[in-house]
Amino acid sequence: RLRTESGKVRGALSIGSPAIYAVASGKGGVGKSTVTANLAVALARAGNKVGVLDADVWGPSMPLLFGTSRAPVVLGGAMMPVEAHGVRLMSTGFFVEGTQPLVWRGPMLHKAIQQFLDDVHWGDPDVLLVDLPPGTGDVSLSLLELVPDARVIVVTTPQTAARQVAERAGRMAADLGIAVAGVVENMSGFACDCGRHAPIFGSGGGDSLAEALGVPLLGRVPLDERLRESADAGVPVMASHPGTVSAVALRDVALSL
Ligand code: ADP
Repeated sequence: RLRTESGKVRGALSIGSPAIYAVASGKGGVGKSTVTANLAVALARAGNKVGVLDADVWGPSMPLLFGTSRAPVVLGGAMMPVEAHGVRLMSTGFFVEGTQPLVWRGPMLHKAIQQFLDDVHWGDPDVLLVDLPPGTGDVSLSLLELVPDARVIVVTTPQTAARQVAERAGRMAADLGIAVAGVVENMSGFACDCGRHAPIFGSGGGDSLAEALGVPLLGRVPLDERLRESADAGVPVMASHPGTVSAVALRDVALSL
């Protein structure tokens, strides 16, 4: 087993040192998980070996977004990730029945995150995307402490309320010495068939957040009914409709990483 610079053990993941991106947001519902899933599919389609660690333990959505709920197989002490749409997935959602709540406290969560990093047979990925829970809680702290070489992607909507709390998530990473790769503005207006672009959630939040954090705005992803429909159907829009506006914007973000 190799050790990271901070001396933490990074078992299975130390091989080949993947690029690790932790996707964060200030509040829920801004599309953080949808962005994570589609960035993963875009990176896989570009020829990368991609893993997604769903660390959004209170609301794991990767099983739904990827249309799979198979329990991971344990082989020789290592958990095998579940493969869907060319991406290797691990999620607490695979271990919790239906709508049962996960009643774990801080230390158990820390241990679970550590096991997901160390004891999952990720298979030498090029990129690992981690879907953090919204906010600046225990799980995000644990993950960022365990993987100090991760880079954070902050997802916000253009709305002031989302942008302000998103800044806290970005600042927490910076305070821990973790680099912020940039900001993705999601739900960035709606392009109507009538030709009008309606800024349903306002505008400017992504730009002003990127400026406040001193990082680039990686892209703006418009509201897109196809994206929502695909997500609900368990197929990331990047796989079902790669030419739709939201998929094109998300692919540009993925390829800029
Ligand atoms: P979070 O992970 O931030 O809680 P989700 O990824 O679960 O948010 O997204 C919240 C909801 O918004 C989901 O129903 C998702 O399908 C929808 N959604 C996310 N981004 C878009 C978008 N660009 N256009 C349309 N619907 C979206």
